Amino acid sequence: MNLIFLGAPGAGKGTQARLLQEREGIPQVSTGDMLRAAMVEGSPVGKRAKEYVEQGALVPDDVMIALIEERLVRPDARRGFVLDGFPRTLPQAEALDRMLERAGRVLDAVLYFDISDETILRRLTGRWVCRKAGHIYHLEYNPPKAPGQCDADGSELYQRVDDRPETVRHRLDVYHRETQPVVEFYRRRGVFATIDAEGDIEDVSRKVLGTIRARMELRA
Ligand code: AMP
Repeated sequence: MNLIFLGAPGAGKGTQARLLQEREGIPQVSTGDMLRAAMVEGSPVGKRAKEYVEQGALVPDDVMIALIEERLVRPDARRGFVLDGFPRTLPQAEALDRMLERAGRVLDAVLYFDISDETILRRLTGRWVCRKAGHIYHLEYNPPKAPGQCDADGSELYQRVDDRPETVRHRLDVYHRETQPVVEFYRRRGVFATIDAEGDIEDVSRKVLGTIRARMELRA
């Protein structure tokens, strides 16, 4: 299964991609997680990305396209992938089309997580993330059992610097300007589906699984 999860930051793409990875074994390919790992490592990509990520701006397309090109040929992604956070611009979407075509692969579904800016602001400014594996919590909606500690692996929880309210507003502006056209790019295709992403995690998960299963049946 080759899937793309599209939508604003905070729409729940990462949470749902992670659940799908756990339930169906399809690897979550999150460009945001890849960049944060590169920044911690201090690799050349990490150094180049740092300033952009911290300001809530987009990392240049050439960096992102090279990163994805290298990721999708790894053995675990051969059976499929869930792209979470890529493509975010039209040039990225066009580059992905060319990459998949060269590899003889097709997209099975593009799920667009539809959500209001108000909900996003509420979600992102209360979000805490586990340092070890990126498990996601929310102070109000999905709090960890012990404060500041990940339920799954016990590691420390931290707030992303780009989840501060002023940076979230900037990321939303960037999303509407740069990424909304990508939604229109895929909307015309048969694989496109809209998911109402306002509900809670289980509710959205049911919709995601239902939509993907329906696509797979159509394909079979
Ligand atoms: P995310 O975790 O998906 O919200 O991504 C965090 C940050 O990483 C974004 O605000 C961007 O600075 C950067 N980033 C992630 N994916 C991309 C992408 N496809 N293109 C450009 N920048 C990206």
